[in-house]
Amino acid sequence: MVKEKACRNCRMVVEEEEKCPNCKGTNFTTFWRGYVIILDPENSEIAKKLGTTRPGKFALRLSR
Ligand SMILES: [Zn+2]
Repeated sequence: MVKEKACRNCRMVVEEEEKCPNCKGTNFTTFWRGYVIILDPENSEIAKKLGTTRPGKFALRLSR
């Protein structure tokens, strides 16, 4: 089973990527809770809050 991890910089949740597809960051944590799926970043208030322009899965909280 692949453990999902969240980017510490932009909170995007990925599985096997070594670099965040959203912000190109390489700092991930597996300690995160809750997530939102953003399908349409252009029209999403949550996407604006997170500062993302890409659709995807984003962690709501990082624990560490
Ligand atoms: Zn990122």
